[in-house]
Amino acid sequence: MKKGILIKYGEIVLKGKNRAVFENILMKDIRAGLKELGQIDLKKEQGRFYLQVPEDDDGEWIDRAIELLQHVFGIIGICPVDVPESDDLETIGDAMVAYVKREFDRPCTFKVFAKRADKKYPYNSLQIAAKLGERVLHETDGWTVDVHQPQVKLYAEIRNQVYVYGKEIKGLGGLPVGTGGKATLLLSGGIDSPVAGWMMAKRGVQLSAVYFHAHPYTSDRARDKVLELARRVSKYAGPIPVYVVPFTRIQLDIYAKCQHEKLTIIMRRIMYRVAERLADKEGAQAMITGENLGQVASQTLASLECTNAAADRIVFRPLIGFDKQQIIDIAKQIDTFETSILPYEDCCTIFVAKHPTTQPRLKDIEDDEKKLTDIEEEIREAVDGSELYLCKPEEIVKVRTSVHGSEGED
Ligand code: ATP
Ligand code: MG
Repeated sequence: MKKGILIKYGEIVLKGKNRAVFENILMKDIRAGLKELGQIDLKKEQGRFYLQVPEDDDGEWIDRAIELLQHVFGIIGICPVDVPESDDLETIGDAMVAYVKREFDRPCTFKVFAKRADKKYPYNSLQIAAKLGERVLHETDGWTVDVHQPQVKLYAEIRNQVYVYGKEIKGLGGLPVGTGGKATLLLSGGIDSPVAGWMMAKRGVQLSAVYFHAHPYTSDRARDKVLELARRVSKYAGPIPVYVVPFTRIQLDIYAKCQHEKLTIIMRRIMYRVAERLADKEGAQAMITGENLGQVASQTLASLECTNAAADRIVFRPLIGFDKQQIIDIAKQIDTFETSILPYEDCCTIFVAKHPTTQPRLKDIEDDEKKLTDIEEEIREAVDGSELYLCKPEEIVKVRTSVHGSEGED
């Protein structure tokens, strides 16, 4: 008998024209997510997708496919299915009994659910369920019906093909990446920003990222850690272009000229301005940070207000109301935590004041910032000198040594 995987997706946004757009993007995301399996046979199937399992699979292919599907946003359920040869009720019953005997090693209580797409099918859904239920009841040992709280829900769906199954693996939910526009993530080596990017990708946003690198104060290992974080997030979000911005000159300038209690806020404001230029290059309408209310001095309401004022476009801070533990839990779930806690220095920890202000006033910040008389040129230099990498699940490739440099070096 043919085997496959029935893929279920959320229905919230599936109205009118949106439905086809959503389905096509999700199909593309699934193909991209399952790339390592080579050419796949994936079909639309009335509110679901059907993925054919190769006939010679000994179980390895399907296990890997399920694992990869659990990384694709927009999928809510993943069901390994048997596909009987014909849609006559005898054959479906044979398949269901065989499925039960094969998949479960002890008797359970069960209920059968049936769906038929074609209303001309000789039996209605309730009749189908009743007939199949009877067969399972009589042809298996110890299985009994419980219509209220069954341990196992057995399904028969009669669509273009027939699907028989009794297990559903939860998908991630969210929306397919590419349905929610583009945004640029300010990605540091910490715990928070990779999680922030992941959360926006979960709402369908396609990511690019910017990392501010203060060489030689921050080492190449610190940069590589950030690229590795992007690679890990790309398992969910798809390939992520990461700009590595040379930030040393700007940081030294701020350090030399501005009041030290204002350092972090001014630095973050300049980061926003550089990131915005790079967001433009990527066609991104928004920016994302891992900022979280009250976590540190630069993330009080007053501080965030001052930083935010430097940005011309919307800045998403999806972690704003989370406790640290909740963020850590997600970081562990998405497998970025272990990388994030590697002990490499970060530009913000090196140029940091002993007593940063927690109640800055925008006017004071702006006045102090005026001391940075070369900042426009410095920003331009930082943008132009950025290196570009592409972080994909299987590899990290350097695309350009600088935005104005030549392609494909190194
Ligand atoms: P994270 O765990 O993401 O580093 P954090 O709690 O350490 O966050 P901060 O260091 O104060 O917070 O930074 C706040 C946010 O500013 C980060 O989440 C990130 O979005 C951005 N950011 C900070 N440093 C950098 C950097 N070197 N490059 C890019 N973005 C940065
Ligand atoms: Mg940080």
